[in-house]
Amino acid sequence: MSSKEIISMISKPTLYDVEKIRSDFPILQTKVHGKPLVYLDNAATSQKPITVITKAQEYYSSMNSNIHRGVHALSQVATEAYEMARIKIKNFINSLGKNEIIFTSGTTESINLVAQTYCRANIKEGDEVIISEMEHHSNIVPWQMICDEKNAKLKIIPINDEGEIIFEEFERIITHRTKFISVVYVSNSLGTINPVKQIIKLAHQNNIPVLLDAAQAVNHIPIDVQELDCDFLAFSGHKIYGPTGIGVLYGKINLLDSMPPYQGGGDMISKVTFEKTTFNELPYKFEAGTPNIAGVIGLGEAIDYVTNIGIDNIALHEKFLLDYATEVIADIPGLKIIGTAKEKVSVLSFVLDDIHPHDIGTFLDFEGVAIRTGHHCTQPVMDRYGIPATSRASFAMYNTKDEIDILIKGLKKIIEVFG
Ligand code: PMP
Repeated sequence: MSSKEIISMISKPTLYDVEKIRSDFPILQTKVHGKPLVYLDNAATSQKPITVITKAQEYYSSMNSNIHRGVHALSQVATEAYEMARIKIKNFINSLGKNEIIFTSGTTESINLVAQTYCRANIKEGDEVIISEMEHHSNIVPWQMICDEKNAKLKIIPINDEGEIIFEEFERIITHRTKFISVVYVSNSLGTINPVKQIIKLAHQNNIPVLLDAAQAVNHIPIDVQELDCDFLAFSGHKIYGPTGIGVLYGKINLLDSMPPYQGGGDMISKVTFEKTTFNELPYKFEAGTPNIAGVIGLGEAIDYVTNIGIDNIALHEKFLLDYATEVIADIPGLKIIGTAKEKVSVLSFVLDDIHPHDIGTFLDFEGVAIRTGHHCTQPVMDRYGIPATSRASFAMYNTKDEIDILIKGLKKIIEVFG
């Protein structure tokens, strides 16, 4: 079957109004170097709908006040909005209770929190922690740090040429000394969706808790933490159309309860004397100091926005974009896709002959096309493929087929110029 025939078979979701969605994102009207912005760097951060932007602004213009401690009206309104966002997130990921939702500054902090509390308390010399070869640096370095401190061993699940976890290797490296497993749900540099339910099942058969790095999953896949049965789950607001500097750690209540606090300070205490301090109840035990209130409220609004469109509808639209892009990009001579897993989200990493990804990114920028080039904070993935970097186009709910055509046109021009 020719690629044209395949493209015509790729069905477009019908009731999805991408132009209406685009009109909600003011930045998409921007021109770059005189050309309309084609924003394909969504895996790095997504753009924000106007409702999120105005909500964060509304907090500062009509509610600004510190939360939890005030008896005055503004403090109560701000506290209510902040706690409402927690409930929205609880519902979005279907956790059992709102006290399982901890606000952090992002995925990075959420993972560090678990490494520095749960693992510092539970990992001993000679124990093992397992991660995969496709982790983001933020799901490698915190585990290296705690393993170094405890003289524990960090074990790595290898990936195959397609960029999929080799499950038999995972089964092989689990031992009675394995005390924690932390894996990425969706790879940011390959797009692979990992078989996390299977991973969790096997881990639990061995009484090992699992953390899922859901930074690249939460905006593409419906997440149900009860169904997944994960012990911890981390994500960042800015990847799901919310503000930067805000993220979430979900943890099972019994685990969170058993963990020592992460940081000490205001709000995380019940009573302080110089002799002894007792800690606040969950989730406040893990939220020391004045939090990113505008960020939390903005994230709640982003969750509303995504919920209204429907994560399933978004996933369908993005699958259409990924299938189309994968098909048409294959016609570019000398181009090789890095990450060809059977289960993928809308992330397309590639190398193009000997042309350096940095040159590709710079050239495309002059065409108005924003992609990401480099190692994507996954240097071990680059080592696995023996390359220094890739170019990565990543699609979101507001991208279009026409934008993919502009990307392809740009890549064809690059070949002409670079020969
Ligand atoms: N994990 C993955 C898979 C990511 O893609 C990212 C962000 N690129 C992170 C973790 C870290 O997220 P943040 O920088 O928002 O903490």
